[in-house]
Amino acid sequence: MTALALDVGGTKLAAAVVADDGTPVEARSVPIPSREAWGACAGLLRQVAEIGAGPVTAVGIASAGPVDTVAGTICPINIPEWSAGFPLVEAVHSLFPGSRVDLVLDGAAAALAEQRVGAGRDVADLLGVVLGTGIGGGLVLGGRIVSGRTGNAGHIGHIVSPYGTTVCACGGVGCVETVASGPSAVRWARAHGWQGHDGAALGADAEAGVGVAAAALERAGTALGQVIASAAALTDVTRVVVGGGFAQSGAHLWRPMLAAAARHARLRFVRDLRIVPAELGALGTLTGASIVAAGHDWIN
Ligand SMILES: [Zn+2]
Repeated sequence: MTALALDVGGTKLAAAVVADDGTPVEARSVPIPSREAWGACAGLLRQVAEIGAGPVTAVGIASAGPVDTVAGTICPINIPEWSAGFPLVEAVHSLFPGSRVDLVLDGAAAALAEQRVGAGRDVADLLGVVLGTGIGGGLVLGGRIVSGRTGNAGHIGHIVSPYGTTVCACGGVGCVETVASGPSAVRWARAHGWQGHDGAALGADAEAGVGVAAAALERAGTALGQVIASAAALTDVTRVVVGGGFAQSGAHLWRPMLAAAARHARLRFVRDLRIVPAELGALGTLTGASIVAAGHDWIN
């Protein structure tokens, strides 16, 4: 019997065999091609299935959102071919007939992994935030994913920020994703005279004392701290785990984020709010999908 984990990201697919304790092993990944994404996905799944011992009995899928866990479809904004909706659960099921296939939002998978084996393993309740090209998230209460009606609970990137003025990829206006994702912070810095091109360079320039780079990170960090404090009050959590590539931007992002959160989280039940870096890095989402595949009592 073999369980598999699949992570459908914005630009790459990753899959692994799931060990009995829910850990992903023998992970493999491929870039998502511009056409025939399912062909690449099926090929990758067959490849890792061959490493496992015996027939595939369970597959845990974590996907970039939005997802529809009731219909078993995904419509990730970053994969044009699938953005109108792709029946991933059915497709995986026909690849491994008789298997149990479960789908969760990528941010929820990452949050579950941090709660079980990462930066939130000492608490039962946490909010996960993933800072990258967008801003993702997931909510774990009582040690289990809070999925919501269609699986999309935890989409913290689309809380409106007081700093937000521009149209978001979701169609709304002023979402915190338009202020504090890596590309959004870069766009603001460039509009104010900065010459660099990506979030990593922005962090490095802020460290080196470039004023506009530091200001861009301070603005992003402050906006993040505000929405994190709001979300903590909404969900009654005191642990927030922040991961993703842009979370590596250093103290120029983290200091204002922590300060803004402390300024806004004043209710007694969120006053102990702790915002900490994720521990599982790029493997967090695949680890969450593995815990789901292993069937370790993961959903509320
Ligand atoms: Zn939005």
